[in-house]
Amino acid sequence: MGSPLSAEQLADLRGELDRQLGKLERSMRVTDEALRPVELDQTAVGRLSRIDSLQNQGLTRNLRVREQVKLAQLIEARERVEVGSYGVCTGCGSQIPFERLFVFPEAPECGSCG
Ligand SMILES: [Zn+2]
Repeated sequence: MGSPLSAEQLADLRGELDRQLGKLERSMRVTDEALRPVELDQTAVGRLSRIDSLQNQGLTRNLRVREQVKLAQLIEARERVEVGSYGVCTGCGSQIPFERLFVFPEAPECGSCG
């Protein structure tokens, strides 16, 4: 059980959440581009490079799933800041240590629950 966040720590973490949200939104636009349908023109794209391209799309889809999970966590954390429950573990209700939030500002749980 850590000590509650100071106003200054909370302001820092809130700024970090906003920064990460902005960064994630930019990288998700790049992922959108990469997820555009593969061109099926057999004359322009050989069989091997097509398979390659489809495999890359598989990787990109995995990345997209991770981005969406992170986006949801960041938005939820941002909402917890607004309602004043930020930094409280959603698992056990204890205070999440600042050191953990500093590394994972979107963390909904303390080290024991997460
Ligand atoms: Zn906990």
